[in-house]
Amino acid sequence: MQIEILTGDITERDTDVIVNAANSSLLGGGGVDGAIHRAAGPGLLAACRKLRATTLPDGLPTGQSVATEGFDLPARWVVHTVGPNATAGETDPELLRSCFRTALTAAEELGARSIAFPAVSAGVYGWNPETVAEVALAEVAAHRPGSLERAEFVLFNDRLAGVFRRRYEQAE
Ligand code: ADP
Repeated sequence: MQIEILTGDITERDTDVIVNAANSSLLGGGGVDGAIHRAAGPGLLAACRKLRATTLPDGLPTGQSVATEGFDLPARWVVHTVGPNATAGETDPELLRSCFRTALTAAEELGARSIAFPAVSAGVYGWNPETVAEVALAEVAAHRPGSLERAEFVLFNDRLAGVFRRRYEQAE
């Protein structure tokens, strides 16, 4: 699978899937979650409310992923994943690994050819960006692609993109 590391706003990406670093309520939040809900429009919140009313009454567990349509976004689908919250004691890297793995699986189930990831858990959830980059790149590298041909990491600033780029070069 082709891997690209970009600086930018994930809401502007026209990949088949963009991944949202959601919280377990799925009802929106700050950071990238808030940006995705603003750009997708009210249809996204309605779709998330429907998931809560049907298959996910208790919310989405940490490390799991669920798909919705992309509504007003250029991306066709949003795969919502709940990163572990280090500031609340969720420091097991397996939970973070699971986010990337289950998001890739959800994208494959949709038949997506491209996927864009943010730095899940590297914001208010307090994970070290180095660890996020290491785990994220390892999971994408280990993924045996079906429909997926390209994975992007869309980092909000050059410093974070630099962390991902250095990790990527080290792993090559
Ligand atoms: P979490 O709660 O999982 O830590 P945050 O949204 O707080 O999620 O942060 C995750 C990462 O997403 C941070 O590196 C933050 O800078 C970044 N981010 C925020 N908005 C955007 C955006 N529009 N596009 C890409 N990345 C974003």
